[in-house]
Amino acid sequence: MAASEKEAALAAVPTDSPTIFDKIIKKEIPSTVVYEDDKVLAFRDINPQAPTHILIIPKVKDGLTGLAKAEERHIEILGYLLYIAKVVAKQEGLGDGFRIVINDGPNGCQSVYHLHLHLLGGRQMNWPPG
Ligand code: AMP
Repeated sequence: MAASEKEAALAAVPTDSPTIFDKIIKKEIPSTVVYEDDKVLAFRDINPQAPTHILIIPKVKDGLTGLAKAEERHIEILGYLLYIAKVVAKQEGLGDGFRIVINDGPNGCQSVYHLHLHLLGGRQMNWPPG
């Protein structure tokens, strides 16, 4: 993450207000959708950190600004998002492996407060992450 992106993440205020992802869901702004059904949308990250970098989001936020806000009622959608991550990884040909990331809150460098999984692949990942 570039310094400016880290600053943007730190400046982002955790909120339940609509985000840019609502506009992407409503197709009010363009995105490259790679998977869509009635519950989730997966689209390419505008600032990819790997050859394959896809965001997977619930279409209905239902208070899930981030993982820290998860309640028992979210268990089904949380599991479904992970399952779709696997479906999309297969679709993208990531047979050699991939990484799922969920940034949460300022320390996690979250910048968009609508829960999303990052699906990263197409290169060797490093550990520990930054
Ligand atoms: P996070 O920092 O975990 O909250 O991730 C937010 C992600 O959304 C970042 O990786 C951004 O590059 C990505 N992003 C922001 N706006 C867009 C957009 N319009 N289309 C696609 N990805 C976006």
